[in-house]
Amino acid sequence: MKYEFWFVVGSQFLYGNEVLETVDKRAAEIASKLTEVLPYPVVYKVTAKTNKEITETVREANYRMECAGIITWCHTFSPSKMWIDGLRDLAKPWCHFATQYNVEIPNDEIDMDFMNLNQAAHGDREHGFIGARLRKPRKIIAGHWTDNRVHKRLGDWMKSAVGVAVSKDMKVMRFGDNMREVAVTEGDKVEAQIKLGWQVNTWAVGDLVREMGKVTEEEIDALMAEYEASYDIATDNTAAIRYQAREEIAIRKMMDREGCKAFSNTFQDLYGMEQLPGLASQHLMALGYGYGGEGDWKVSALTAIMKAMGENGNGASAFMEDYTYHLVEGQEYSLGAHMLEVCPSLAADKPRIETHHLGIGMNEKDPARLVFEGKAGEGIVTSLIDMGGRLRLIVQDIECVKPIMPMPNLPVARVMWRAMPDLLTGVECWITAGGAHHTVLSYDVSADMMRDWANMMDIEFVHISKETTPAKLEDELFIKDIAWKLK
Ligand code: MN
Repeated sequence: MKYEFWFVVGSQFLYGNEVLETVDKRAAEIASKLTEVLPYPVVYKVTAKTNKEITETVREANYRMECAGIITWCHTFSPSKMWIDGLRDLAKPWCHFATQYNVEIPNDEIDMDFMNLNQAAHGDREHGFIGARLRKPRKIIAGHWTDNRVHKRLGDWMKSAVGVAVSKDMKVMRFGDNMREVAVTEGDKVEAQIKLGWQVNTWAVGDLVREMGKVTEEEIDALMAEYEASYDIATDNTAAIRYQAREEIAIRKMMDREGCKAFSNTFQDLYGMEQLPGLASQHLMALGYGYGGEGDWKVSALTAIMKAMGENGNGASAFMEDYTYHLVEGQEYSLGAHMLEVCPSLAADKPRIETHHLGIGMNEKDPARLVFEGKAGEGIVTSLIDMGGRLRLIVQDIECVKPIMPMPNLPVARVMWRAMPDLLTGVECWITAGGAHHTVLSYDVSADMMRDWANMMDIEFVHISKETTPAKLEDELFIKDIAWKLK
């Protein structure tokens, strides 16, 4: 889907045609400038003067799949009772852009005609009131439309809004159920569909095995060429790699046929398969599909959404699992990995394809997988949990480092990081909030973008940052628990 955003400008008939023509011309100019610098096009729709114009524009925005949100602005004063019907029915993300055409107040030129034309400071307050009165989720961004800082914030909001569109269209293909007895990966799939739009359903592993049987040697050859172009082959076991290619092609065909953007499986249910998909899942993630291990459909869908929120619609975001700590004083780190399935979008260097024995699960043969080190840099880890009656999104800021030791016998991709505010306090905060061991780790999506996404999806948001303390967090969670029960 090629997403776009609609620019809806508020005004009224009071100022006469000349003013309205100027507003119209300037609105088109602003939309065109924003389109040049933002990740998605801004399409100027209307300078609205009546209830009817606003309501009709909103209905159209709701209906058009390519419209991922509306951006409103009041160049002049636009009485807000005209906006009630439209905004009440608005089902797309909304950004209130509090800007104005000019940067400076022109000392000599300014008179009452100038004031009547350039009264965004006035008009945007009226517009803000009705947003607050309607309790509508909205992003408010103030600043001049040529300012780079404004472009960054508008661009980030757009990506979050695209995350909303992708979420509402999300279908997850589950192979096998949840790993036995695990609690945090469970959740209310009906609630997830009501709130987030996710259709989460199950297909039999036997269906996948049958699909694998239909994959041709030519199809495998073509995918092998892609693997060779992207990765270093560090194993002689070509049969294992070809088996992973067969798995990848079959999973992808089944997902594409059903319109699924994410999948989950479990090493406990591989009936009829020789290898747990490793390289197969990793390469599918590199293509933008979501994945979750051990039946974790929540992290799988969230991975696909956060990838879509990243650079060029497929950013550096990946399914991750906290495994073990380095607790030497002054160099405390978390080591993240998974049994096999870490997305190569996190890799610092070209990943290697290796085959190793995997003792856990039902593998008959050694699975091929990508092995690499994660990049250094700032990022976040994100977890969506079901609190019973509501969903909670937890985001923690992290600082990834080049792994401080080579770990030559660890046969999987690995990422090392320090959680904020420091590793141990960060661990205490994460555990206090109930965050899962499975996360989406992202270098590309910020905590603010996830906050906007959670606001638009109307779910609880908890941010663990360098300012967080366990005591403050406990109080915050206590108050939010009550607030969400009342909501
Ligand atoms: Mn796991």
